[in-house]
Amino acid sequence: MKYIGAHVSAAGGVENAPLNAIKIGAKAFGLFTKNQRQWVAKPLDKARVLAFRNNCDDFGYNSFQILPHGSYLINLGHPERSALEKSRAAFIDEMQRCEALGLDRLNFHPGSHLNLTDIETCLKTIAESINITLGKSRGVTAVIENTAGQGTNLGHAFEQIKFIIDLIEDKGRVGVCIDTAHAYSAGYDIRTTEGYNQTFADFDRIIGFRYLKGMHINDSKKLLGSRLDRHDLIGMGTLGMDVFVRLMNDQRFDDIPIILETPDTTMWKKEIAMLYGLVK
Ligand SMILES: [Zn+2]
Ligand SMILES: [Zn+2]
Repeated sequence: MKYIGAHVSAAGGVENAPLNAIKIGAKAFGLFTKNQRQWVAKPLDKARVLAFRNNCDDFGYNSFQILPHGSYLINLGHPERSALEKSRAAFIDEMQRCEALGLDRLNFHPGSHLNLTDIETCLKTIAESINITLGKSRGVTAVIENTAGQGTNLGHAFEQIKFIIDLIEDKGRVGVCIDTAHAYSAGYDIRTTEGYNQTFADFDRIIGFRYLKGMHINDSKKLLGSRLDRHDLIGMGTLGMDVFVRLMNDQRFDDIPIILETPDTTMWKKEIAMLYGLVK
């Protein structure tokens, strides 16, 4: 079974996210558990947590259908000590917020070397950050998102994600989210049948589908290997429709949250219905 949804707004409180999801016919949703452009947020109060859980129960959203996204400010591989500490504290806070909300996974971008250190050192720092965080939270899996590799962002190659996972002490609480637009921009040609088969065979061999805990389903405005992160509406970008037909009929992507992060929120309802219409 496919669980398709979108990264919905939690404006006015996290409890609004499931309400916004049900309005667009989503069977899954993504959200920020705090303002993603601010470092610090006040703790979630009990009433909001309860309202969130009640709304999820009412509309049938289980934790495996929900994929919260971490703040874009966080860089778990930051080469400078004080900035790294700030990122780690914010990440721990986000994991604990997920825990409080009864969520079982948190998706985040691994980190950037900022041209201040080498790739391997940065990947080791990211792994250390995850290990520290897992030690200070319970029940929430740290879900590493593949990136487009824009600027000095790491995690654009499956080998880099594998390198991080190998250093994680609790392998049961680390996972991966594949963003289709990022994969394509990073150089994985999922547009063609051959490229799709090759990419996911590589993913399985290098990382393993057992680690796949979510998916971001986006078309891309940029070309294969451009290393630029610009999402487009499904079927309207450089990826086209074929990859989404394949994906919707590929059981390896069953039973995980599959989240739209396409640029026009008014199109999400249509996009979700259209994606379900692709199932043969
Ligand atoms: Zn992301
Ligand atoms: Zn994404």
